[in-house]
Amino acid sequence: MEAKGLQVIVMLIPVRCFTCGTPLADKWEEFKKRVEAGEDPGKVLDELGVKRYCCRRMLLSHVDIIYEVIPYTRPV
Ligand SMILES: [Zn+2]
Repeated sequence: MEAKGLQVIVMLIPVRCFTCGTPLADKWEEFKKRVEAGEDPGKVLDELGVKRYCCRRMLLSHVDIIYEVIPYTRPV
């Protein structure tokens, strides 16, 4: 989905794990891309070095709702 005329700079994956504080936002794009391409999410997390289950749930359960909210924002 693309928002015409808007530049989205908000990254809504939390920057760090809520529980242990490990930075995760830098892994989101690759995780999402590979899972959408059909790879097994667990295997991708292993390869990204996300070992703790508190961190794994952050990526596994995240939904990018920004794309559903954009149509309802005021034009810039
Ligand atoms: Zn964690």
